[in-house]
Amino acid sequence: MVTSDGIATFDMFIGGQSRAPADGEYFDSIDPSTGLLIGRIARGGVVDVDAAVTNAAGALSEWSDMNPHARGKILRRVGEAVADNRDYLAALETRDIGMPLQFASLTISGAAEYFDFYGSLAATVQGETIPTGSGRFNYTLWEPYGVVAAIAPWNVPVNQAARCVAPALAAGNCVVLKPSEFSSMATVEMVRLANEAGLPAGVMNVVTGYGHEVGAMLTQHTLVESITFTGSVATGRAIGKVAADRVVPVTLELGGKSPDIVFEDAKLEVAVPKVLMGFILNSGQICTSGTRVIVQRSIYEKFSKMLAAAAEKIPIGVNNPMPTLGPIANEMQFEKVMRYIEAAESEGARLLTGGERARGPGLSGGFYVKPTIYGDVTRDMTIAREEIFGPVGVLIPFDTEEEAIEIANDTPLGLAAGVWSQDASRVHRVARRLQAGTVYINDWHVQAVEVPMGGYKRSGIGRERGIQAIKSYMQSKSVMQTLI
Ligand code: NAD
Repeated sequence: MVTSDGIATFDMFIGGQSRAPADGEYFDSIDPSTGLLIGRIARGGVVDVDAAVTNAAGALSEWSDMNPHARGKILRRVGEAVADNRDYLAALETRDIGMPLQFASLTISGAAEYFDFYGSLAATVQGETIPTGSGRFNYTLWEPYGVVAAIAPWNVPVNQAARCVAPALAAGNCVVLKPSEFSSMATVEMVRLANEAGLPAGVMNVVTGYGHEVGAMLTQHTLVESITFTGSVATGRAIGKVAADRVVPVTLELGGKSPDIVFEDAKLEVAVPKVLMGFILNSGQICTSGTRVIVQRSIYEKFSKMLAAAAEKIPIGVNNPMPTLGPIANEMQFEKVMRYIEAAESEGARLLTGGERARGPGLSGGFYVKPTIYGDVTRDMTIAREEIFGPVGVLIPFDTEEEAIEIANDTPLGLAAGVWSQDASRVHRVARRLQAGTVYINDWHVQAVEVPMGGYKRSGIGRERGIQAIKSYMQSKSVMQTLI
């Protein structure tokens, strides 16, 4: 809906229909590439959360009892609807969080693939018969949990939502999705399109609003039987406590501070642009960003110069073809990134390039930060330890393979890691010892729906993507009969 002042309004989608918030309240959505108001988002409350969960619970028996092949077909149609509306959804993501348009299109295509992949898997989950002696008959059933609360972050909104919602639905659960308050527009539209594509009413609902309000109410709702969360470690910890208190299963996909090790025999002409994209793609607002670049001392100066030169050539703006740098997704995060830059200066890191707001034609009012690289960073510096979630990379030198691994693992987080070398033995030797859920060899940010991902250490609990994720949303039941 567009109001008289020309601003679009985004309501929730509950029980198969658009629904205005019960309290009638909305909050603003700001385009981070201009700083201008572009939308009003429904601020959900307790009545809306209850309506969404109750509708999801009401749709359960129809959805979970449906022939899994038929359920899968509907999900594949949802995937087609998302793919058919890729340009529309990508444009909304670009306006809402400043994601460069071409990258936004790729992430929407990825979202469509989740529905396609898990739709295809829906009919493949099978139980087993277990021999228990001649007088007994035992078999197992895989059943959904019921209502799943899915809480998503703002950095890759529709894609991250689809990543957890698609397997949860394929498993026969009904879902209440809560996007971030910074990125609701495209997600609400994705849910509407999914309903129009044939999802029965109530199977997928979306409530919008603030995390400490709608998010907290959702995780605490007594009809919610499972929680899947993607976001920061701090919120993940809080949600984990709620899950423990309520004794419901929880999947936590959290933050990272991922190391990317460059050995002296790396193919530098390939490594330099990819290492750079490893920490500036989506303005560094990707959980698996390779922000700690650990470089062998013999090539350290040469590599630093090449990396800084490549960073200075990256165009800035949301409409350029890739590679390009968009703004930081919201003002709060922009200020956070700038605080990390100040900390780097005060702790004595050597600025190689960037380190300031990007200005220029077409950028005014936008929350743009230049691609930023610090050299001679020590492991104890704040920028080497904390997730910045901005286009900031830090360079740390090393001498031996052992030392590189030690630096790489010196973090409580463990989402991704990378190794650059042409030595086929070394890359696998190092990969085994890196404490991370994903290890890239001679590349970064390559992913596929069929490949599982998740965090070691404090980066999370559980795995998304891949065949195994569907069972994260199911529980097994043993049926034991005595043959009388
Ligand atoms: P965040 O933790 O601030 O918010 C995530 C979601 O949780 C939002 O929808 C928010 O409204 C909601 N929320 C906040 N407080 C809540 C509460 N008390 N109860 C329930 N819900 C609540 O994270 P963010 O800033 O939106 O996202 C960035 C973070 O997400 C980064 O740390 C990034 O690394 C991480 N991330 C991880 C992955 C992964 O796959 N591991 C993917 C993307 C992002």
